[in-house]
Amino acid sequence: MPGDINRTWKLIGADGKTYDSTQAGSLGGHRRSRIYGRLDCRSALQAIAKGGYVMNRVFFLDRADAEGAGYRPCAVCLPQDYARWKIRKI
Ligand SMILES: [Zn+2]
Repeated sequence: MPGDINRTWKLIGADGKTYDSTQAGSLGGHRRSRIYGRLDCRSALQAIAKGGYVMNRVFFLDRADAEGAGYRPCAVCLPQDYARWKIRKI
């Protein structure tokens, strides 16, 4: 947000550690299942609605950080990234 220079966000960096970012994260993730996806992911929002997910919710600035931290793309909201990730794993 313009003018809101003191706002920081807790994000996970490519080293897997939490840090304070001056930019909002563009991706969400689940610490236990090690999956990252869009903030509006249908599957993540369903899990959040059921409860129990929020405690494990983490955020990333971008995809490079998420994958650097060892998270894989969500098959529901990032099917193309997921396919790419699967191919690379083989
Ligand atoms: Zn997703």
